[in-house]
Amino acid sequence: MPHFRRHSAEKNKRKQQQQPLRKNDEMKTTTTSATTTRIPRNGRRIFRSRRPRVGVVLVVKNKSQSGEAAENAPKASGVDRSLNPRVRDLNESKTVALTDLARTLKERGEDVIGLAAGEPDFETPDVCAKAGIRAIECGKTKYSPNPGTVPLRAAICEKLKRENGVEYKPNEIVISNGAKQSVTQAVLTCCGPGDEVIVPAPYWVSYPEMVTLSGAEKVILKTDIKSNFLITPEQLEKAITPKSRMLILCSPSNPSGAVYSRETLEKICEIVTKHPRLLVLWDEIYEHIIYAPNEHVSAASFPNMWERTIVVNGFSKSFAMTGWRLGYSAAPEYFSKAFNMLQSQLTSGPSSIAQEAALAGYVELGDKGGAPVELMRKKFQERRDYVIERLRKIDGVAIETPGGAFYAFPDVTKLCGGDKGGFVEGFGPVKGSDEMCRYLLQEARVALVPGSAFGVDECIRISYAASDETLEKALDRITEALDPKKFKRSGSW
Ligand code: PMP
Repeated sequence: MPHFRRHSAEKNKRKQQQQPLRKNDEMKTTTTSATTTRIPRNGRRIFRSRRPRVGVVLVVKNKSQSGEAAENAPKASGVDRSLNPRVRDLNESKTVALTDLARTLKERGEDVIGLAAGEPDFETPDVCAKAGIRAIECGKTKYSPNPGTVPLRAAICEKLKRENGVEYKPNEIVISNGAKQSVTQAVLTCCGPGDEVIVPAPYWVSYPEMVTLSGAEKVILKTDIKSNFLITPEQLEKAITPKSRMLILCSPSNPSGAVYSRETLEKICEIVTKHPRLLVLWDEIYEHIIYAPNEHVSAASFPNMWERTIVVNGFSKSFAMTGWRLGYSAAPEYFSKAFNMLQSQLTSGPSSIAQEAALAGYVELGDKGGAPVELMRKKFQERRDYVIERLRKIDGVAIETPGGAFYAFPDVTKLCGGDKGGFVEGFGPVKGSDEMCRYLLQEARVALVPGSAFGVDECIRISYAASDETLEKALDRITEALDPKKFKRSGSW
C-alpha cells in the first residue's frame, strides 16, 4: 500500500485508532484499460485488442504480473486452465467490487462509509413485500412461465402504454432475473462479430462487457461535463458506419444522472431511423427517479422507433427491489421471441415470488409506483441538492446538477496532479480517478467508484442513496481530505 502523509495530530490519533487497510483489502480483481489500437475515420475509438491488460482499481496491477500467466500455464496435474477469450477478457464490475470491499471493511469493524452501491437505501414498498410473502405462503413457488407470468406481462404492457405512450402485446415482453439479464440477452441476440455497438461514455459498467461477450466491437463516444455527459446528434452521426448495429442509451443515466431532453432525443432518433441496421437499446431503469423540470421520454415513442427499439426496465431502482432480481425487456416480437428462447436456455423464467411482488406494486400502488415511490423520489431530490451544494464548495470540483437517478458525478480534473502523469491543471497528488478513490478510501474512509469504471477518468461517482446523516458525514470527510492545504502535488502520494 502506498503511504499517506499524515496531516495533523488529530488525524494521527484517528489513524492510530483505525486499522490500516490491509493488503487483503485490495481488490482481488484486476481491471482492464482497454487498448485502443485503431483511431479510424471520424475519430471514433474502436477497441480491439484487450492486451496488455493493466489492472487499475484500487490496486494498479498488471494481470501478467498478478499471476495470470502462471494460472494459465499447464500445471503438473495437466489441467488446461485456459478460458474462453470472450469471458477471459471481461472485467469484473468495479461498482460491485467496491461495494463488496466497503462491506467487508465495515464488517471488520472499520469506520468506512460506502457510497459506491447503485441501490436505493429504502425498503421495498410494503405491498410488494407482503405480496411476496403471500406468494410463498400460497405455494406460488413453482417455475414461472419462461417469459414471465401472463398477469405481470399484461400489467407491464398497461404501464408502458399509460406512462410511456408505447404499445406492446404481452408476447413482446420478456421478464428476466434483473434488467442486467435483459440487457445481456438483447446484446447477445442482436449483436455479433463484425457488428459495432455505440456506447456513450460515461456508460453503465456492464454495457461494454456485454458487447465484448457478444463478439461485437464497442465504439465508445466520450462525453464530458461540458456536454452534461450527453451525446450530441452530430457526434452520433459521425460515429455511425454500415457496421453499426446498436446504440445503447440510458436516461436518466447511471453514472452521471443526466437526462436526455425530448428535443435531443428526437434528433438522435431521427438519425437512427436513417440507418436500417441500427437498433437502440433504451435503458430506462431510473425513469421514476427524475427531478423537474426534467421529464422521462421513451425513445420507442418517436416516429419509426418502435420497430428498432429494445426497451429495458426493471424493479430494482424505482421499486427498491434490487435483491428480488426482476427486470424486463419490451421489443417487437421478432426480437422478443429470440430473447425468450435465449432465456429458456440460460435461466428459465424469473422468480415466481418476485413477480407476485411486482404485480402487487402495479395493481395496488398505481401510476409510477404511487406514494412510496414518490416519497423516495422526493427524498433523493433533497439529497441531490444537498450533495451538489456541498461538492460545489470543494476547491477544484466541478459538477452539473444531475436531472435524475441517485448519483453525483463530479469532475475532479483540477484535483489530479499533472506532475504525476495526471491531468495537466491538477493541483492534487493523485493522477486519476482510481487513485482519487483509493486516496478517499484511505484518507476519508469513504468508498466511491472511479470514473474510469464508466469510461470517464476525469470523474468519480458518488451514490447519494444513503441517509442524510451518512451523507453529511461522508461529505465532511471528503471536504477535509481534499482541502488544498493538505491535498497538494507535493503530497507523498
Ligand atoms: N441498467 C442500469 C443503468 C443500472 O444501473 C442497473 C443496475 N445497477 C441495471 C441496468 C441492472 O439492474 P438490475 O439487474 O438490478 O435490474
